[in-house]
This record gives sequence, C-alpha cells and structure tokens, in this order.
Amino acid sequence: MEADERTDTYIVTEQQQTLMGMDLPDMEAALGGRYPKFRAKQMYEALYSQRKLDLALAKSLPAALREEFKTGALKTDSRYDSVDGTVRYLLGLADGKSVEAVFMPENGRDTLCISSQVGCPVDCKFCLTALMGLERNLTAGEIVGQVLHIAAAHHLDPHDRQMNIVMMGQGEPLMNLDAVLKATRLLVDPAGVGMSERRVTVSTSGLIPKILELAKSPVRPKLAISLNASHEEQRIEIMPITKKWHLKDLIEVCADYPLRSWEALTFEYVMLRGVNDTDTDAKRVRKMLANINCKVNLIALNPGPGIPFETPDPERVASFQEIVKAGMPCFVRKPRGLDIYAACGQLKRMSDELVQLQN
Ligand code: SAH
Ligand code: SF4
Repeated sequence: MEADERTDTYIVTEQQQTLMGMDLPDMEAALGGRYPKFRAKQMYEALYSQRKLDLALAKSLPAALREEFKTGALKTDSRYDSVDGTVRYLLGLADGKSVEAVFMPENGRDTLCISSQVGCPVDCKFCLTALMGLERNLTAGEIVGQVLHIAAAHHLDPHDRQMNIVMMGQGEPLMNLDAVLKATRLLVDPAGVGMSERRVTVSTSGLIPKILELAKSPVRPKLAISLNASHEEQRIEIMPITKKWHLKDLIEVCADYPLRSWEALTFEYVMLRGVNDTDTDAKRVRKMLANINCKVNLIALNPGPGIPFETPDPERVASFQEIVKAGMPCFVRKPRGLDIYAACGQLKRMSDELVQLQN
C-alpha cells in the first residue's frame, strides 16, 4: 500500500458514492486526494474494462476504498426470453423505477438495444413507449449500466466482439444528449468499455437543434433518423413533433450533417398499412433522400394494444423496398422478440399484458 494511502479504519460514509457513469476525472475528484491518483484509474478500469459489477471482486483496490463506493450496477427486475433468442430485460434503477434493454444475438454480431429515458415525451402515434409519457431522463451511468448488465448476463466482451449498441429502446436520446454523449465516451474509450465508435448508434425522431449539437461533438455515436413518412402532412399525422421541426428542414440538416469517412446516415421508416406504404410514398422517399449519403431501414409496424395502425403485407414491404433500393441501400428489418414485446416500439413494461399473452 502507498505511504500516502489511508490505513486507518474505514470511514463509514453516510452514503456510498456510485461509480457507474463517472469518467476518470470524476473518479479522481471523488477520491478527493485521500488516495493516489492511480487508484482512480484502477477503479475506472475495473468497472468499465474488466466489468467488475461488484467492487468486492476488484481485489487490486484497497478494501477501505472499496467500502466508500458502490458500482451502481442495475438489477434484473424481470427477464423475458423469446423463441428467436432475443432477451428483454426490465432493469431496476436506484429510485425504484425500471427501464428496458434488449439483447439480440446474431451469429457473433450481437445487438444491444438500450434506453435513454424512462418512457418518452415524443408523441408518435405508432409507438407504445409514447403511451407512457416521460418519467425521467436516464443518467449516463444508467445508460452504460444497461450495456454492462447485458454483457455480464451473456458473457460478452465488448472489446473483441462484433457487438453493436443501438439507443433505440425507450426514450428520445437527443432529449438527453449530455448523458447520451457521456455514456458514449465511456463506451468507446479503449481504457473504458472499449467498443468501436462505429458500433454505437443513436436514433432520433428529428430534433433539429440537437442534431446540430451532436454534429459538433468530437466523440459521438452514429446517427439514425426516424423518417417514417414521405411528406410533411403525413408525418405530422403520425409524428406530431413535425409541427415543430419540419420535414424539409430535417432533411436539409441531414444533407449537411458532417459524416466521418466511414459513416452513412440511417433512415428508419416504420411502414403503416394504408398510411405511408404505397409505391408513391417509396418514390417520394427515394427522391427526398437522393442527395444524402444514407441507407434506409424499413420496419413493418409491430402492433400493440392501443396502437391504431396495421402492419402492411410482406409483398407491400417488398415492393416499397424495390423502389427505394434504386436510389440507396434499403433493408427490411426483421422483427425480433415479437412474442415477448421486445420489438421496436413495443417497449412499455408490458409485463401484465405478457402474462395474459402467454396464458
Ligand atoms: N426515440 C427514438 C429512438 C427509439 S424508437 C426514435 O424515435 O428514433 C426506435 C425506432 O422504433 C424508431 O425508428 C421508431 O420509429 C421505431 N418504432 C416505434 N414504434 C414502432 C412500432 N410500433 N413498430 C415498429 N417500429 C416502431
Ligand atoms: Fe419516443 Fe421514438 Fe417512440 Fe417516438 S418512436 S414516441 S420518439 S420512442
């Protein structure tokens, strides 16, 4: 033990400080000069790189120091396993609220879908999360905590796996941009969780000023835009936020977005039967995005109770895809975990409904 380290009896702190979400300077500050600086680096690496979710396992740290902190790891409130391998977690937060995260395994290219808020304040008419309203923003620690929780549960190593993270769970990530960016820095720091910056994606309903702010951040996730409509009136109908941030302006901001050399924008398009799924819609989408370096992901609506829309037939989706494909890469996202309400737009703590569904 270093000469300047405390060797006296443990200080019984009234409340242990939570490490999850702290960056290295935060941890140095939390040590407050009571320990040498390298202890902060050790804590940082034990938590994020070695993913020790219980400080008792971080044996390199002095016992007295371990007593002063807690990791802030999330706990599993519920877990639902889909027949397709998808696992949906309801994760408990310190204040008793809970949030959802989804693990989607795929031949070594696993995807973790994580939340950025509890609920969501954006009123999209096809999305179950919208029905919750906003309960609160998540902290950076609660965002990173979802990744570490799933990595531990499934024995994943973010350093050497082809692992993707999408912030497409509950919430509008750009309404919680500071926490999302801090979480991203912790996730992509080689001394931290160690993910590739190319494998973290954030999806937004189109908050223009926040897209501009994101563009300026030196470390940032890739950007996906939930387009979901081929013209202004149609988008207002299903995404009322369009009245505030107009479609034309959104497309302009996307065209000017400073992409990195390896990057393209993603546009997501939820297809609603008879609303936005015609060949004419597809042609408009192709034209609208013609000057943007992008790809399009089509998602046939995942239905849910209280959602007043229907899913288009696979033939309609295929026809739409053919048309868009003539202008840019266009894929159809296959739904994952439909049987456990884990698919896009279904995250709403549906435990009661699920029990009914399974009985
Ligand atoms: N709030 C962000 C990210 C979370 S939603 C956003 O809107 O982009 C993630 C994706 O799920 C979005 O592209 C959204 O359009 C899509 N989605 C929402 N409800 C859906 C539903 N019922 N079926 C299929 N996709 C849905
Ligand atoms: Fe919120 Fe995204 Fe759902 Fe819209 S689609 S309500 S922005 S989570």
